[in-house]
Amino acid sequence: MQAAVVVAFGKPLLVEEWPVPVVGPGQILVKTEACGVCHTDVHAQDGDWPSKPQLPFIPGHEAIGIVAAVGAGVTVVREGDRVGVPWLHSACGHCEYCLSAWETVCPAATYSGYSVNGGFAEYILADPNYVAHIPDGLSPEEAAPVICAGITTYKGIKVTEARPGQWLAVSGCGGLGHMAIQYAKAMGLHVAAIDVDDGKLAHATRLGADLVINAKKDNPAAVLKRETGGGAHGVLITAASLSAFKEGVEMTRKRGTCVLVGLPPGEFPLPLFDVVANCITVRGSFVGTRQDMAECLAFAAEGKVRADIELQPLSAINDVMTRLARDEVPSRVVLQFGSSKAAKAATHLAAQAAAVSAPPVAAPSKPVPARKPRAPAGAGR
Ligand code: NAD
Ligand code: ZN
Ligand code: ZN
Repeated sequence: MQAAVVVAFGKPLLVEEWPVPVVGPGQILVKTEACGVCHTDVHAQDGDWPSKPQLPFIPGHEAIGIVAAVGAGVTVVREGDRVGVPWLHSACGHCEYCLSAWETVCPAATYSGYSVNGGFAEYILADPNYVAHIPDGLSPEEAAPVICAGITTYKGIKVTEARPGQWLAVSGCGGLGHMAIQYAKAMGLHVAAIDVDDGKLAHATRLGADLVINAKKDNPAAVLKRETGGGAHGVLITAASLSAFKEGVEMTRKRGTCVLVGLPPGEFPLPLFDVVANCITVRGSFVGTRQDMAECLAFAAEGKVRADIELQPLSAINDVMTRLARDEVPSRVVLQFGSSKAAKAATHLAAQAAAVSAPPVAAPSKPVPARKPRAPAGAGR
């Protein structure tokens, strides 16, 4: 099978031939149809988190595909089912966190594309107990970003505890952020979108953001406090940039909650007096549980949120990773696997994207219910 492999940290991936993995007892083998490319894959490639993956490894944790084989003892999925292989690859099912539906922090958890091989490959092994079940009517390309960008922001919004009618500030309007805006609107929140790129902010407005702030041009906390009468009740920081974290805490309303989701390496200073005196909660959030997965996929299947995707073939992976690291991907790139027709379509889209310097919202390769096309992000670059 073709796979894109990290062989050295900070170096380009090698697209090479690997053997198709052999399915073991309790496992399933998934034939990949599509896999989104998340900024976490850039951190994995760079090895910039405290705990590093073991080299060589195949990144990718937004893989959607068809179950091609099931191992002995597997009963919960069948050959032919469409599943997603998310970041949370597997967990123990028995620890205090798993028992209380916090499997995301299970100490024995494994992570797709990080501690086990992921979806930048034509086949991927998965744990049938932790795969996402893709609803009918959602194409694999559209489903891919939901199983990381979607679940992470949906869960992150929930843990801000912001209620309908209140303000949510979304800092970082890329892969995660463009989904966050849509989930927040669907959940009845007012949304302030913050980024450093005017094209992404223009897209945030198209997605329903009520207020947009360019953090390079304005002081986001000052603008937000002025426009909302005191700051956002919930703040969701998805930017992979440390400066966004300090600003995020400053944007939080008294008694509000600032949720940290982006994972740039490093630390940021917490203004102790303001956090204490304003009774602010600062909270981390890591992907979501299997129940969160079912819920966030249902929003997508019902058409309430829709990932804006740019299709690319696996062979384009290094270009995609470079653009992502430079904040040059408008929303989400999805790698498309399979037919040469699909690959041709992707190449065509890439050429189109280069011509207009803003990738289009790609048409999925499989029939899905007709939806109105949306203008692309990134127009301001
Ligand atoms: P992305 O590159 O698609 O989007 C990041 C966005 O942040 C871009 O739009 C960029 O323009 C914007 N940005 C950069 N600097 C900024 C600043 N100072 N202020 C505001 N916006 C700024 O990346 P992504 O795929 O959305 O991932 C974002 C981060 O979230 C990564 O660090 C990734 O590892 C992390 N992540 C965390 C989880 C989790 O479970 N906590 C899950 C997925 C991804
Ligand atoms: Zn991710
Ligand atoms: Zn556990």
